[in-house]
Amino acid sequence: MEPVEILRAMKGALEEGEGGTALAAVEERLRDPFAVLIATVLSHRTKDEKTSEATMRLFGKFRTAQELASADEGEVAELIRGVGFYRNKARAVIGIAREISKKYGGEVPRTLKELMDLPSVGRKTANCVLVYGLGMEAIPVDTHVHRIANRLWIVETKTPEDTENRLMEIFPKSAWSEVNETFVMFGKKICRPVGPRCGSCPLMGSCRHYRSISKQAEAKKEKQTGRIEQKVMGMDGEEC
Ligand code: SF4
Repeated sequence: MEPVEILRAMKGALEEGEGGTALAAVEERLRDPFAVLIATVLSHRTKDEKTSEATMRLFGKFRTAQELASADEGEVAELIRGVGFYRNKARAVIGIAREISKKYGGEVPRTLKELMDLPSVGRKTANCVLVYGLGMEAIPVDTHVHRIANRLWIVETKTPEDTENRLMEIFPKSAWSEVNETFVMFGKKICRPVGPRCGSCPLMGSCRHYRSISKQAEAKKEKQTGRIEQKVMGMDGEEC
């Protein structure tokens, strides 16, 4: 299957009206790259729903980088309570707001390097801002994207950065900005980290991971059947 067909099949498997990631929701509601940046920081180890709620509460009170830059850390922590590590994240988002206010006059920078130079901003977060906040072409690679691409054997990589580079080679640039949203939603609903729903997956026929778990299951079954037969034969022997 061609990579673009894989993307289409994943989208087809996701039910319509199911909604998207927290970042897509924040962008749709606030139309603000700074909000997307802050939401991405808040989203680490946090469920989508909690991320969206915390971001909306925070931006209900502090609307710009300049406002957040001079906010009280305790107040920010209370507003984002519910996301993982909310106290540390309160400090982090204020730090980002200060840097953006000081260096960029409150505007979110538009390059990967400038974004990654901000405090508490790594590669995945920077790429998320490019895609979701600024509408640019990039492929943010999180745990879902890395896992699914390797399970399907579209890539064979050890690190998210290698996955990002390979996916940028494989997918046409016009599809880059769809990769994260589609893979992440597919990873949450179908190709889950534990207990993937292979039975409802349109990619079952071309999935290396599925082939490998099927083989393991078959081998286990054969072993069990062999053991039962041996046992029956043994019992027969005893009876004689
Ligand atoms: S067949 Fe299973 S492991 Fe493979 S992509 Fe689909 S859900 Fe994931």
